[in-house]
Amino acid sequence: MPRVEAPDTERELFEHVLDALDTGLLVLDQDRRVAAINDTLARGWGVDREDVMGRPVAEVFDSEAERWYLPERGTRGEQGRATREVRGTVAEREVLMRYSSSGLGDSGAVLIRIEDLVDADSEEEVFRNTERLISLGELSARVAHEIRNPLTGVRTTVQFVASKLRAGDSRRDDLQDVLKELDRIEQIITDLLLFARPQAGRPVPTDLREIAEKVLDNLARRLEDASIEVERDLDEGLPEVTVDPDMAQQVVLNLVINAIQAMPEGGTLKVGAGLRRTRYKKAYVDVVVVDSGSGIPEEVKEKIFDPFFTTRSMGTGLGLSISLQIAREHGGNLTARNLAQGGAAFRFSLPALLTPEIEEGREEK
Ligand code: ADP
Repeated sequence: MPRVEAPDTERELFEHVLDALDTGLLVLDQDRRVAAINDTLARGWGVDREDVMGRPVAEVFDSEAERWYLPERGTRGEQGRATREVRGTVAEREVLMRYSSSGLGDSGAVLIRIEDLVDADSEEEVFRNTERLISLGELSARVAHEIRNPLTGVRTTVQFVASKLRAGDSRRDDLQDVLKELDRIEQIITDLLLFARPQAGRPVPTDLREIAEKVLDNLARRLEDASIEVERDLDEGLPEVTVDPDMAQQVVLNLVINAIQAMPEGGTLKVGAGLRRTRYKKAYVDVVVVDSGSGIPEEVKEKIFDPFFTTRSMGTGLGLSISLQIAREHGGNLTARNLAQGGAAFRFSLPALLTPEIEEGREEK
């Protein structure tokens, strides 16, 4: 947290401590501009610390509750101890925050402690998910790099030795097998890196309905072989969303493949696409993938979006974490829930690009 008055080394230590806290911390100056924000909150909000410093808080965290951040009146001494709740939009995402605020001496500054931050729609916890995603992401990037370098050396040497052998020499085939295995390792590392640092992609206006259709068409054979009946409920004339089409396809594909794996005995797969408006007058295009499998077991519910978490012997546990990362990077979200009648429903949503025609069409309805 920059701008804390203390000698440099002490200040640095202080900043590290504040950043290491699980609680989000925000300091507003007397003009209600962001004077400091710790790492936990910047990550939870999905904002860049440098970008928000010095900006009016209302510009960063947009809420209908005006002046939510002020300490409660008439509670001097114990002021700001009470935990309150506020809903608002930050970095295009609607969140619900549980927080308390207190005045900082006579400076007019306010200290806000955010204890809990959840996605307003799903009540899905934001803090812990992002934390784990980032730290494991960094870890995998490092591991991938460390392995990739020596691997390139090994590959070059094997290729060189193979080139020295005469055609027809059986050892040549052995070395080809080694090369194939090396390629496999290379592929795993590429996937890991994709997870750790998804390529920026090329976001363009995209029709999610088309993407869903394409995925279902591509998997038609596999669905049939698995005795899965498909119900498509894809609304026509949906607004477009801004997303890299390949990445959006990857998300929908992951969800449908997970659904197939959740129904080893066959069943019904429902794939829907539709427009959803929220209380905050925001609009999202949702792709919902529903299966009739056994649902997500209670004890793993909290973990399914964690990288490397899998309950399948052949799983990598990266599908949902990569998908969540893609959704968030495009200002959207990915949530999961179990259905009362059994089975699981996954919702992939991205902000809708509303056009005046679509807005007008809605008025007429
Ligand atoms: P993987 O498919 O490699 O296991 P994912 O990240 O895609 O990795 O999924 C993580 C875990 O989430 C799965 O191992 C499974 O336990 C659970 N899961 C995902 N989709 C479903 C579903 N449709 N129904 C039940 N459980 C699911």
